Amino acid sequence: MDIKELDKQYVANTYSRAPVTFVAGKGAVAFDDAGKRYIDLGAGISVNTFGYADNEWLTAVNAQASKIQHTSNLYYSEPCVNLAQMLCERTGMKKVFFGNSGAEANECAIKAARKWAFDKYGDESHATVITLKNSFHGRTITTLSATGQDMFHTKFGPFTPGFVYASAQDASEVERLAEENGCCAVMMELVQGEGGVMALEQDYVNKVLEIARARDLLVVIDEVQTGNGRTGTLYAFQQYGFTPDVFTTAKGLAGGLPIGACLLGEKVKDTLTPGSHGSTFGGNPVCCAAGLNVLSRIDDRLLARVRKQAAWVRMELSGAKGVRAVTGLGFMIGIDCEKSAEQVAAGCLARGVVVLTAHGRVRLLPPLCISDGELVEAVDILKEVIAE
Ligand code: PLP
Repeated sequence: MDIKELDKQYVANTYSRAPVTFVAGKGAVAFDDAGKRYIDLGAGISVNTFGYADNEWLTAVNAQASKIQHTSNLYYSEPCVNLAQMLCERTGMKKVFFGNSGAEANECAIKAARKWAFDKYGDESHATVITLKNSFHGRTITTLSATGQDMFHTKFGPFTPGFVYASAQDASEVERLAEENGCCAVMMELVQGEGGVMALEQDYVNKVLEIARARDLLVVIDEVQTGNGRTGTLYAFQQYGFTPDVFTTAKGLAGGLPIGACLLGEKVKDTLTPGSHGSTFGGNPVCCAAGLNVLSRIDDRLLARVRKQAAWVRMELSGAKGVRAVTGLGFMIGIDCEKSAEQVAAGCLARGVVVLTAHGRVRLLPPLCISDGELVEAVDILKEVIAE
């Protein structure tokens, strides 16, 4: 049997896969099992920060894996502490909880917000979290409940209560929901990724911050997809000009190994106490060594290059034949095309370029190491496919 049939027989049927098996890669280039070359503008959905088989990353991962691969959280671990320190020093946050995924990081953020409110009010009267319509926060029952899209709220109920959804354009809805419910936090993605690569307006964010301040709501930012250099700053909130009370990240943090991090600011740094939360693999030494390598290399020079390359891609695509609009921020690029996004993705794949889709848009999330030459080659093909 070939791999497609075996996959169909043995792997849970939760993904519609493209008809490709990637077997190797280097940097922004991947190869399939027939040896065909692809330029990757998806980075494993914003995960492979430095692309495939990056030499420095491999050295860091291999060195840690050959020393000690796992100890559990019953003991101290250097890579875990060092990554937490680096994350705090580069963001102004105070403490970090490590898990294995974006959903797990968001679960921690929700638990921290609710416990902060419980500690403050002595009961569950302020347990509600305001999230945004069209948001995406994960696939666990609670993070699905936090996700502000009706299509995720069917068939798996009962869902976790205590989430209300506000418009991502009209901040007065946040005010109204805060008035009507006992709330502890407002939680948002600054660029809604799965929701179609839509960046929140600065003015909207300013208003939400103002409401949160006035009503004593924690500001929780989901940087699972926007984080780790993706939008042209280390974290997207840094270009919106504020520091959240809590933020989460995952995906690109360890450059291709599973990690999730929930970063806790001054107000909530002591909210989680021994026994209140945990994760067997959280803070795994190999994943944290990978994270240290990735984070230490996302410096001002790299970020300036990401901003420059991203501006070039936007310029090339804006007004190109068949393109209605280009959305997003930095290297998180949404393309509204006259053709269907699925058709464009399939056409690109056939011609050796990997692109993603989200909510009817073509979505680009290139690895941050992509060269100018690779970008030009891939964008030329993408433009041709969109225009055909
Ligand atoms: N939050 C955001 C903004 C995401 O984009 C995603 C995944 O796409 C998640 C949370 C869930 O992350 P994970 O799939 O690692 O659980």
